[in-house]
Amino acid sequence: MKKLNVNKEACIGCGACVAIDSEHFDFGDDGLSEAISQENLDSENVANAISSCPTNAISIADVEGEEKECCSCCEGKECCCNDEEEAA
Ligand code: SF4
Repeated sequence: MKKLNVNKEACIGCGACVAIDSEHFDFGDDGLSEAISQENLDSENVANAISSCPTNAISIADVEGEEKECCSCCEGKECCCNDEEEAA
């Protein structure tokens, strides 16, 4: 499982990533970018946003092993078994 992350200590809030890929990036209340979606991380826009960041604040980390098996509670809808971490 991959996870898109913005390093807030490196982000300078230039807005390049938000302009390039508003599907994955938006400004938080602190005026710095944050990842707003973990879907479709192989898209060209994500790659462009990463390469356009002047401070290399954006990364996609491999968090293999943390993904839980679906418990089937979602009954055919989008699996929510790995949403716990985001909600916490
Ligand atoms: S491109 Fe980089 S520095 Fe600019 S807002 Fe996005 S994460 Fe921050």
